[in-house]
This record gives sequence, structure tokens and C-alpha cells, in this order.
Amino acid sequence: MISVQKAITIIENKVNINKTVDRELLEASGHILAEDVISPINMPPFRQSSMDGYTLNFNHTSEYIVVGEAKTGVSNNLALKENEALRIFTGGRVPDSANTVVMQEHVKTISGNRISILKKPPIKANVRPIGQQIKKNEIALKKGTVLNEAALGFLSGLGIESVTVFAKPRVSILITGDELVQAGQSLKEAQVYDSNSVMLKLALHRLGINDISIAFVLDELNSTKNMIKESLNDFDVTLISGGISVGDYDFVKEALEANNVQQQFYKLNQKPGKPLWFGTKGSTVVFALPGNPASSLTCFYVYVLPALRKMMGHSKIHLKRRKAVTDTIIKNTFAKSLFLKTKVNNGIATPLHGQASSILHSFIESNALLIVPDDSKEIQIGESVEYIDLDF
Ligand code: AMP
Ligand code: MG
Repeated sequence: MISVQKAITIIENKVNINKTVDRELLEASGHILAEDVISPINMPPFRQSSMDGYTLNFNHTSEYIVVGEAKTGVSNNLALKENEALRIFTGGRVPDSANTVVMQEHVKTISGNRISILKKPPIKANVRPIGQQIKKNEIALKKGTVLNEAALGFLSGLGIESVTVFAKPRVSILITGDELVQAGQSLKEAQVYDSNSVMLKLALHRLGINDISIAFVLDELNSTKNMIKESLNDFDVTLISGGISVGDYDFVKEALEANNVQQQFYKLNQKPGKPLWFGTKGSTVVFALPGNPASSLTCFYVYVLPALRKMMGHSKIHLKRRKAVTDTIIKNTFAKSLFLKTKVNNGIATPLHGQASSILHSFIESNALLIVPDDSKEIQIGESVEYIDLDF
């Protein structure tokens, strides 16, 4: 049995960053940039008005004649004389001959095309200089940036159509258990409804992973072997639920070995989630998660999530660890690391009722997994504790 920290280190070392791929902007959300993006243009590309108003070369007279307009999208680079102005709109090109834009609210029309300026405009006011946001050939976005809608909108605004990113992993979920039934079907004696396929799939969606296959596997060696074989061929990551304990019908470990998946660790000194199995075959990664739903989800957050984030090219792969003060005595009679489903509010940690590995209900209210170290026997009220922040 190995420690939590040892297992985390093994995962960090054995999981590789995925290959890079080119993606159109609309397909790139949630990906990580694999290289710096250089701006192909100045932004804005021309001196741009930030107001509706009048552009002119201010020279201490307050009266001007409006000799034309600068509509957005139309260049009207007129050589304005001393007392001439152009009507201009937000986003319009300011002619080279003008030194300011007077906002419309500070202008009064005297008659026809004659205007009077009510408030003296500062020079360069309301004019966005060329390259104010970014200059041509500067780095627009750095390698490692997580591409969200702001980033992708920004790149689109620079005329960029596609980006080079780290591929997101394709994930296969294999759900074992002869007792499992899908919601919507009738439940016979001794059967249970499946939680883990829905739970794991949605946990993957939350990480931005959408290329997911789900299959149900009988508790039988040959079919388990075959399903694992297919999964290894077609997917970057295989997540197996259940069948990894020591029961007579737990065939996952044997089936993984038969497929030459190299075990990197099996059995952790932790509760819940002792029978977690992790292995690799080439760059393919396999996690066999305990079938008990709360146990499975805990292992997902602590071990699977960092592995997936590493593959996706994230620099910070683990969920954040923070400190709080416990309002409850915590006993650890197991000499194991404990992950307790916990509510943290204003720095106060309240471990919840229902810590058993089968109980998902207490996970619903939890925003934290409180970590009790394996060498800690008892934590008193008011003592500082570390927790994994589940608000991400
Ligand atoms: P196992 O890890 O296969 O020994 O399963 C441990 C416990 O978790 C058993 O009570 C199973 O019925 C239950 N279990 C396994 N897989 C699931 C699942 N997908 N959904 C809900 N319960 C499950
Ligand atoms: Mg089972």
C-alpha cells in the first residue's frame, strides 16, 4: 500500500502532455495554447474614435464647420482646415489631420453645418491610438493560456482563425457490475441503479472533456479483457468503475494485466478509495476506480483530474488546497489518510454526516474534501486543517 503523496507523484511523473493540434476558434474553448500567438496586426489598426461626436484639429476657436462625416467602416482621411470638423461615430477612423474628438454632448449646433464647442476638449481625447491594445508582432497570448471566450474573442478580433493547442484527452468509461441497472428501467431484487456513468461523464464535461464513450461491462473475465482492449486502442484514457477490489467477481486487475497495461500503483493507504489502480500502456492511461460512488468521485478529484489536466497542458493540475479551522473533533483510528466530505464556510470546516464510501448524498452539500493525514489520530475543535477546494 502506498501513501497519497506517493501516488500523486507517480501520476505527475507518468502522465504526459498530449500532442498538439490545430483548432478553429469555435472548437478551441477550454483548450490550452501550445505556443505563443503573435498579433498579425495593430489593434486598433487605425486611430479610432471612442465616442460619437466631432473630430477636428482643435486650435482654440470654438466654432467649426462640419464638412463631412466619418462613418464606421469608411475611411475619410480628409485634410481638415483650421476651422473644419467631421461628424464621427464610435469606431470611426479619425483623420490624420485631426487631434481630438469632441463628444456630441459637448457640442451645440448653431445653424446648418456650423457647430460650437461648449467644453474645451483635451488634445487626443476620445482617440484610441494605433496599437493601443496590442501592436503588430507583439505576443497576443502566451503559451499555456487557457482559452476562454474572452481570449478567443480577442484572437478573432485580431483576424486569427485557428490556434495550436494541446489536444484534449478522449476518454472511455467502462462501468462494471452485474448488479447495475440504468435509470428508467425497473429495479429487480438485489439490483442497484448506476450512478457512476452519469457522475464521471459530467465530471469530465466540467473539465471541458466531451469526447467520451460509456460502456457497461459484465463481471466476467473475458468480456472485461475485450472491453479493455478496445478501449486501449481507441482512447487516451480509460476510466474503469468497480471490479478492482478483491472479491471473487472482481476481474479488472487481471484483465488489465492480460492487456499488458503496466501497473504503476494499486491500493492506497487512504479512506475512501483504497483499491484505486493506476497504470499506463505507452501514452495511454488507465484508472480503475472503486465502484462505491463517493469513493469513485473522491479518487476522480484527487488523482484522475490532475492527470487529465496535465494531458491538456495545464500548468496547475491539482485542485487548490486551502486551510480552515474545524468545528468538529475528527478521529482517525485507521492510520490512513482520510478525505472527508466537508462544508467550508467563512474559514470554518464542518465535516458532514455520511462519510461512508457508498454515500453520495453528503457530497452534494460538500464544497471541500478535508484531508486528515495518516499520522494524525485526533484533530481538536479549533485546529487548522487542510482541504481540497471543490469549488472550481
Ligand atoms: P465494486 O467496487 O465493484 O466492488 O463495487 C462496490 C460497491 O459499489 C457495490 O456495492 C456496488 O454495487 C457499488 N457500485 C459499483 N458500481 C456502481 C455504479 N456504477 N453505480 C452505483 N453503485 C455502484
Ligand atoms: Mg462490482
